[in-house]
Amino acid sequence: MAIEGEKIVAVAKEAHIPKAEKIVDAAGKFVIPGIIDVHVHMREPGFTEKEDYTTGTKAAAAGGITFVCPQPNLVPVPNTVENYMMQIELGEKKAVVDFNPIASPLLYEKGQVPELAKAGTGWFKIFQRKAAYPYDTAAGTSNTAHIYKAFKAVAPTGLYVAVHPCNIDILNETVSDLEKANLKGDYVAYWSKTYSNEELTSAALQLGYLAEKAGCKYYALHCYLSDYIDVIRRMKASGQNVVASAEALGLFPMTKEEAGEFYGPFQSFEKENQEATWRGLLDGTIDFLGTDHAPTTKESVMEALSIREPEKRGGGNPMLEVYLPLMLTAVNKGMLGDVNQGLERMVKLCAEKAARAFSSYPRKGVIQVGSDADITIVDLDREDTITTEKYARYTKAHWTPYVGRKVKGVPTHTIVRGSIVMEEGEILVNPGYGKFIKPVR
Ligand SMILES: [Zn+2]
Repeated sequence: MAIEGEKIVAVAKEAHIPKAEKIVDAAGKFVIPGIIDVHVHMREPGFTEKEDYTTGTKAAAAGGITFVCPQPNLVPVPNTVENYMMQIELGEKKAVVDFNPIASPLLYEKGQVPELAKAGTGWFKIFQRKAAYPYDTAAGTSNTAHIYKAFKAVAPTGLYVAVHPCNIDILNETVSDLEKANLKGDYVAYWSKTYSNEELTSAALQLGYLAEKAGCKYYALHCYLSDYIDVIRRMKASGQNVVASAEALGLFPMTKEEAGEFYGPFQSFEKENQEATWRGLLDGTIDFLGTDHAPTTKESVMEALSIREPEKRGGGNPMLEVYLPLMLTAVNKGMLGDVNQGLERMVKLCAEKAARAFSSYPRKGVIQVGSDADITIVDLDREDTITTEKYARYTKAHWTPYVGRKVKGVPTHTIVRGSIVMEEGEILVNPGYGKFIKPVR
């Protein structure tokens, strides 16, 4: 392949490739489209003690990711054009990979939705509860009528609305049962009871109906529970315009030994849910993946545990630097079919289909002439062991719940618009290299 400036200018056998100033030798490796992560929490603005655009996007680059979509549970929430532009400015000053921040549609009454669509949000996101992990921000509401109004406001823009589904009555009842058993403050008990099939699936059923009624495209996220995946499969079979994603935490259960004090057992780790999720990846019910990189410092984790408020710790983990090695290991294990077929499927799930759904294809998500030269080079044979030093090197969190996990397959180069951003773990560009990517509509 040949790259000139920011673009791919030729894809051909070596003899047909023009002479180049610089050659990257990928012999023995695989050259794939740059990985797109549709679900990251960059924590900026508002919570930069946990992560910011520079540390978060360096972690992305180290993990072979070329393009990220930061989620809106921030302060201020990107629910006005002004707030949205603030995020773009921060990213353009500080990011090392490309990005598209996701806006909140909840200020629909103020006419912000069409403006935010024009400003370039890839889609919209709502948390169906006030507490938007782990913060109380304006990015969330448990008022279903308001969500329905937001769907109606977004419908004419043609964009998807992603909803973190939560049946608040079921969640509250679960928490009250934990309280009665004197377990409400117990982190392990809390996260093994909440996030249940009933909590998410019953909400998704209702959301799917309301989105369709509003004529709005529905994006179902956190699809790593068996009943939830079945519901999405039925919506798709009925012809509804819905896309679905699973996030890395749900795909790769951690063990107590690996995670230590960061251990949190989720219902998605149960065998039935694991099998359903990987089946959903294979049969196309789940369209694409994100990391749900949710960095939080060790100090704040420890504080939440000591004051027995599991909510404050949140359920997420730093994932950007481990995600691709975990995926490549799954490919090597045959979890997505035989290795070649598996790698192809992985590219669809981790790059191409998200670019298509959110209108940045074929600029992103594919290796072809005219596309941005966003390339991830992976060594599918290299074996390694996950350590904090190497796999939580750039995130401000500096911890990973997978310490000691053996992986086979790692990214060796991350190329964004023709520049090598990461080579063998080292970041080679300055903050501000990353660009805001506006979808083409
Ligand atoms: Zn998230």
